Amino acid sequence: MRIAFIGLGIMGGGMAANLARAGRAPVVWNRTADKAKPLEELGAAVAASPADAVKGADVVITMLADPASVREVAADFLPELQSGALWINATTVDPAFAKEMAAVAEGRGARYLDAPVTGSKVPAAKGELIFFAGGTADDVSRAGPLLEIMGRRTDHVGPVGAGSAVKLCNNLLALAGVLAFAEAIAAGEAMGVETDVLMESLTTSPVAAPLLGLKAHKFRERDWSPEFPLYLAHKDLHLLVQTAYGANLPLPLTAAVKERYGDARARGLGPDDITAVYEVVRPEG
Ligand code: NAP
Repeated sequence: MRIAFIGLGIMGGGMAANLARAGRAPVVWNRTADKAKPLEELGAAVAASPADAVKGADVVITMLADPASVREVAADFLPELQSGALWINATTVDPAFAKEMAAVAEGRGARYLDAPVTGSKVPAAKGELIFFAGGTADDVSRAGPLLEIMGRRTDHVGPVGAGSAVKLCNNLLALAGVLAFAEAIAAGEAMGVETDVLMESLTTSPVAAPLLGLKAHKFRERDWSPEFPLYLAHKDLHLLVQTAYGANLPLPLTAAVKERYGDARARGLGPDDITAVYEVVRPEG
């Protein structure tokens, strides 16, 4: 089976490497060519363009930034997408965009699986992601052997669009949680509690989401190196608010959380980790 993998960023790089290590070396393409080098060392062929990557591919996996980048890259590769191919889009997009891409793929006689993931840089590198799959049972089962290499679980949550919907809801919980954690740390410190004591109690309390335990060291060390880049978190919250607007559903908390990450991004923290939102909570850090 010939696999094309497009987008070798923080997530895609780890996912494609796991495929290569499992004996399923894909043909890869990334806009910034340097990021393909580790894959080449694992036996992957490097394509000159997205169109070149998908030529003759049975499965195409995209792990790009947002709907705009998927649209741009797909415009290049769609003329080469072969009839019967399965396009697995793992990029976080909104449900309407997923449905639009599914229709475009169908127009070429290909299949589209809406397959965003939860889990960050480390789970991507370890093959421990969770996929929220939206599509037909046939397409989910066809993708299954590859999803099992890149992840530890696939939740088939409904038709195309449902994967993206669950992913956007999942990220609301994650990002509201991280922002609340940043405020809780700033508040606890302002009340004179030692940072380590605060972290230990808050991350082991029954109210703490597992994500906060994974992120605690970043707050402790004020280490904002990216695992989940903040600009993408802002994008996800925007996609959720925009989708809810279309459904005439006000989401005031989501909108407020989005603007906090937007504030951080406007201050130049977009490429940093989501935990850098602490810098707007307590600018003098
Ligand atoms: P990233 O490191 O910023 O990677 C983004 C990728 O998209 C890179 O390969 C980048 O290419 C490519 N790209 C962006 N704009 C492009 C364009 N116009 N044309 C061609 N390529 C373009 O982000 P990531 O963390 O891997 O995230 C990838 C996706 O997974 C996003 O949708 C994100 O929301 C989602 N996600 C991320 C996490 C996480 O914790 N990081 C977790 C779950 C889901 P260059 O290398 O040239 O910039």
